[in-house]
Amino acid sequence: NQAWLLASRPDGEPVKENFQLVEQPIPSIKTGEILLRTVYLSLDPYMRGRMDDSKSYAPPAQLNQPMVGGTVSLVVESQHPDFKTGDWVLAGSGWQRYAVSDGSGVAKIGDLPHPSWALGILGMPGFTAYMGLMDIGQPKAGETLVVAAATGPVGATVGQLGKLRGCHVVGVAGGEEKCRYAIEKLGFSACIDHHREDFAEQLANACPDGIDIYFENVGGKVFDAVFPLLNTAARVPICGLVSTYNSGKTLPAGPDRTPQILSGILKRRIRMHGFIIFQDYGDRYPEFLQAMTPLVEQQKIHYREHMIDGLENAPQAFFDMLKGKNFGKTVVKVAEE
Ligand code: NDP
Repeated sequence: NQAWLLASRPDGEPVKENFQLVEQPIPSIKTGEILLRTVYLSLDPYMRGRMDDSKSYAPPAQLNQPMVGGTVSLVVESQHPDFKTGDWVLAGSGWQRYAVSDGSGVAKIGDLPHPSWALGILGMPGFTAYMGLMDIGQPKAGETLVVAAATGPVGATVGQLGKLRGCHVVGVAGGEEKCRYAIEKLGFSACIDHHREDFAEQLANACPDGIDIYFENVGGKVFDAVFPLLNTAARVPICGLVSTYNSGKTLPAGPDRTPQILSGILKRRIRMHGFIIFQDYGDRYPEFLQAMTPLVEQQKIHYREHMIDGLENAPQAFFDMLKGKNFGKTVVKVAEE
């Protein structure tokens, strides 16, 4: 059984040496257990947080254990009454080829356009986009919605759901190719490349009526450009802050702008609301699947994967994703279906 162990915790940006590739025997199962073969491994920004040992909403990944991660796996052996050999399941096997489970946290996946989509549009990131936008963002026709990481699984879904609600959707993405895709394929009204020198000015031009909903995925300079444009009674679902995940515990350089930001929130009656998808909305997963599945099947929502071949390439693909070198949902193909 090949596995990537978390070998050490990063200080700032993660590096190859934080992971160690090991070969171990394929585990055997007892009564009540299943043996899972990983076919697809999801790589997600939250994994950067799990590499740290600081207190968070979920316990840290353990040193010298397989790195944590969601998987789409095949049941290859079963001594569990609810699973049989050949079942496709959504599991949390982590960065390894085989895993033993007692069935807890393992769910059979239904009939999907593709099994790996259970890690993206019809899984955790799609669910995050749906609940964050619908419940906290409360989109209404004619409003302006801004979302960054606009071609990733969360951002692309947020923007397309916003369009279906009749919003003026402006994406923010890294590079011209991603921006073109957001406009031409996803149907956004505009998409601004955050690498541009004149990014803040371009964003203001694309939002002539200000911003009613900012779905926060990245923080940093995108937040800085968005904040002055937020309208009275704007909603800001705080979903993620990927631009800061590698910055460690040190404070950023520059003056403290907290008073100005808080004053803006107060005077413009802005509602900012952080959420952790399964903690806050776990019981609404069936509602999400019921709403999203037909939209995906009817191609009213488009989905793009950034598929990496081979478990050995997982660390590099993870580093690349944090830097925006992915174009779509990052998935590692660990084995043939
Ligand atoms: P993506 O696949 O979109 O990957 C992250 C993207 O962030 C990169 O591709 C890059 O896109 C962008 N990015 C990276 N650095 C910067 C930067 N400095 N400035 C601007 N953009 C940057 O990720 P997901 O769709 O999976 O996740 C999006 C966000 O949602 C993350 O913050 C994640 O942590 C959060 N999340 C939160 C959940 C919750 O429960 N609260 C659950 C799931 C996800 P580009 O090249 O376009 O800039």
